[in-house]
Amino acid sequence: MATVATLTRQIADLELNTKQAPQSDVAKLLTKFAAPQTKPSSSKAFASSIDIGQYDGGLEIENEERGQVVAGDAAEELALDSSTSGPNPTREWSLHSFDMGRPLGKGKFGRVYMVRTKAEPKYILALKTLYKSELIAEDIQRQTRREIEIQQNLRHPNILRLYGYFHDEKRIFLMLEFAGKGEMYKQLSKVGRFSERRSARYIDQMTNALIYLHSKHVIHRDIKPENLLLGLNGELKMGDFGWSVHAPGMRRKTLCGTLDYLPPEMVEGKEHDERVDYWALGVLTYEFVVGSAPFEAQGTKATYGRIRSVDLKFPATISAEAKDLITRLLQYDPKKRLPLTQVLNHPWVVKYRPRRDVVEA
Ligand code: AMP
Repeated sequence: MATVATLTRQIADLELNTKQAPQSDVAKLLTKFAAPQTKPSSSKAFASSIDIGQYDGGLEIENEERGQVVAGDAAEELALDSSTSGPNPTREWSLHSFDMGRPLGKGKFGRVYMVRTKAEPKYILALKTLYKSELIAEDIQRQTRREIEIQQNLRHPNILRLYGYFHDEKRIFLMLEFAGKGEMYKQLSKVGRFSERRSARYIDQMTNALIYLHSKHVIHRDIKPENLLLGLNGELKMGDFGWSVHAPGMRRKTLCGTLDYLPPEMVEGKEHDERVDYWALGVLTYEFVVGSAPFEAQGTKATYGRIRSVDLKFPATISAEAKDLITRLLQYDPKKRLPLTQVLNHPWVVKYRPRRDVVEA
């Protein structure tokens, strides 16, 4: 019997992209490109039986009230359609391709809905809308394009998949992997702080995702709980590539990211590289186990001051092993920060890693 977990795994393994000429239905693509262990026919009935909830008509209501039709260069820049995208064209998508389900949330640039592809086998996804005129108003058309291009090329179990995208006059639609357990930030706010076991498991997954990302010459630069989602099995899913840069051997100077997670070299306006993400991993570990970021202070100047002097204090409840990892990551000198491969071997991470010798049914 398929379980939600099996189905999620199957969905994650499936491939909606094709380098071939556009095909007429998703089933063909899935048959052709599905990973060997997937069985679309057995998951089909199950996928269509999953309750995607009640659609509230929100997209149409929102579209009446929000955004303007854009024209000119900006419109061209935002004419994003994965069916015509260079290396990984997908089939053609439009709003008619989906059965709409419940609202999942509201982002800054538009709503997010749970949807199911009408074509067999019925795929469950999160459909995210972005209003073009609002992206233009904030002058982030390029950044958005970059975010979409980067995310579409990434394939990792702890990185939210972007299966495809399309647009209409006013909006861009992103077909995202459905993160069944929602936002990491909400979970953290609910419990205050995570147990060391739970934190270590997330950090293990996060480190693996970062190793993968850096191997593709992508620096994330905006790691924080608000940018992390959770899959149906509670696994970490890195999302939001708004600030990431594709940087083959590049040293960058742009100041970006969230204040609390900024490393000293960015606070000081120096050049930086992928080791900014090592620092942020240290801040994230601290926030998970303590419940607040390590250098929080009243106002920007005070926060910057604490970051530059690496003013790190631990509550008594934190284990020596967790403190050791955090301290090794939160080093002023990027060269002294613990490399990610060594994070994977750190005793605190190893101690809580689930045993893999249990074969799942
Ligand atoms: P965002 O615009 O990315 O901030 O999304 C707004 C809200 O929609 C988030 O806070 C989540 O609660 C929800 N959401 C976004 N993407 C997904 C997804 N892939 N799966 C499930 N929920 C999502």
